[in-house]
Amino acid sequence: MKYYDAVIVGTGAAGGIVAGVLAEAGKNVLLLERGPALTFNEVGRDHLRNQRLSIYGHNAGPDLAGNPRVFVDPSGNSRLVSPHDPDYHNNAACVGGGTRVYGAQAWRFCPDDFRMASKYGVPEGSSLADWPITYETLEPFYERAEWELGVAGESNAIRQQVPRRGNYPLPPVPPSPQTIALSNGAHKLGWTTTPVPLLINTEPYQGRSACIGCKYCVGFACPTDAKNGTQNTVIPRALATGHCDLRTGAFAERIDVDERGEVIGVSYFVDSGGGRHRETARAKLVIVSAGAIESARLLLNSRSPRHPNGLGNEHDQVGRNLQGHLYPRAYGLSSTKVFNGIGPGVTIATTQFNHDNPGIIGGGMLADDFIKPPIDFWYDSLPPDLPRWGVANKRFMRDNYTRVMHVRGPVQDIPNPEGRVTVDASVRDKWGIPVARLSGTTHPATVAAAEFMRERGEEWLRASGCEKIWSTQPGLILSGRQHQAGTCRMGTDPTLSVTDEWGRVHNHENLFVVDGSLHVTNGGFNPVLTIMALAFRSADYIARLV
Ligand SMILES: Cc1cc2nc3c(=O)[nH]c(=O)nc-3n(C[C@H](O)[C@H](O)[C@H](O)COP(=O)(O)OP(=O)(O)OC[C@H]3O[C@@H](n4cnc5c(N)ncnc54)[C@H](O)[C@@H]3O)c2cc1C
Ligand code: SF4
Repeated sequence: MKYYDAVIVGTGAAGGIVAGVLAEAGKNVLLLERGPALTFNEVGRDHLRNQRLSIYGHNAGPDLAGNPRVFVDPSGNSRLVSPHDPDYHNNAACVGGGTRVYGAQAWRFCPDDFRMASKYGVPEGSSLADWPITYETLEPFYERAEWELGVAGESNAIRQQVPRRGNYPLPPVPPSPQTIALSNGAHKLGWTTTPVPLLINTEPYQGRSACIGCKYCVGFACPTDAKNGTQNTVIPRALATGHCDLRTGAFAERIDVDERGEVIGVSYFVDSGGGRHRETARAKLVIVSAGAIESARLLLNSRSPRHPNGLGNEHDQVGRNLQGHLYPRAYGLSSTKVFNGIGPGVTIATTQFNHDNPGIIGGGMLADDFIKPPIDFWYDSLPPDLPRWGVANKRFMRDNYTRVMHVRGPVQDIPNPEGRVTVDASVRDKWGIPVARLSGTTHPATVAAAEFMRERGEEWLRASGCEKIWSTQPGLILSGRQHQAGTCRMGTDPTLSVTDEWGRVHNHENLFVVDGSLHVTNGGFNPVLTIMALAFRSADYIARLV
């Protein structure tokens, strides 16, 4: 059996970066990924079945068969859910994880996002807390993520809300007619705006092409490889060193410990030529980067006589504080054509309301939306008084597909310890492993902030010249989904957190969690750049240990 410096479970936003940093530092790593390395054609271009609109099916894993979860609704009723069901809270399962098909919005969190409890106090029933690190600590790693993967944006516009030293390596995406209308509206309101930073090559960068503005983007792979995920940046770099063994179709079953309870490696199942078998890998240390739901599940399923409740779970913290984002949305009918059919579509945002809103804890960012295939428009954007079918519906679609403006954005989640991942031993996946059980909701303070942001969205569209305005906002639900985070939060108190500031699991010298699970709070922004920055920081630290 080959002995590695490190085994990394998961090739997503975080796992790919850790593999790249360790391999380039000359460390021998085994990188395990449950899914395949999907080609552009395998991801496909099916409007009805993709990771953005998945109610009819999905395109970036995990497989429909053999991968159930249990979802418990706010009334306490539980049911089995499969990966394309919104209540599955899926991200993706393939090389690159969510970054293979994401929208690539590349936001830094604000300094106040790291000190939410100090700034607002802790609302009754929530587990709101400060991070053990500050924005200033993470700032150099944000910059590194922006340059090593490639982010397009306008530094000076962003600087008004989020301090930064350096500039983006790439210029922002060009404006659309909708950008100009929303920019004028914001100007009337006295709001500041910024181009949306994106992990997209707006010019050729690091040997890959520029975006050609195709009609897809979020939920799909990029035809020119201009969307920067870990699968086309840091993972190829890791493999090029010769120090990284990538195993696809390899599902980590458990983290192995010796008789003293110390971590020695990972056992995993491999799909091989129609059959399946179990393999084990031994290493100096193990890094869990399986995404917030599956990382918690893996730790909880790694029970042993020394760790009867799973690894890192002495204080019943693993899996708690599952969070993501509520997404209030507002739509407005413009008298002129605003949709130009050019991707990625998301161009302009305001970060004016991320903090300091009277009577509100936190807040969020609002931006225009990604380019929308007509079925997404039909599913998500129609006014509530329009019939869902028939002639009136068709006429509205035909007349207004290019005239509806749309703003939406993630609202800072106020974590609830009862929003959580546990494992359900009575339901097993195709490998026979207990599946994730998702239960609880976000905190009511999140809903109040979402309502406030929905109103701001309507206000923006009204000022931007829309005649008719409508909006939606979710109620008190579990908010994990594609922005899932928080289930192995970092902290200084081992009774209230799972890892230290480096992602090292408390009381385990050689076990790390590095992915969205670490987030103490999830900002009022899309989370991936923060996941990446933390991954660079932890990886540098780990490279010095092995
Ligand atoms: C359609 C879509 C659009 C998105 N748009 C944006 C956006 O615009 N901006 C943004 O910030 N975020 C966006 N996201 C979210 C973003 O992709 C995630 O926040 C990010 O990928 C999470 O990183 P991670 O490292 O925590 O986990 P992931 O990227 O989910 O990686 C986890 C990996 O671990 C693998 N894995 C899990 N369990 C096991 C196991 N037991 N054994 C082996 N492998 C395992 C998974 O298959 C997966 O590849 C989007 C996501 C999707 C799906
Ligand atoms: S819009 Fe640009 S970055 Fe997005 S998938 Fe199309 S070509 Fe790629």
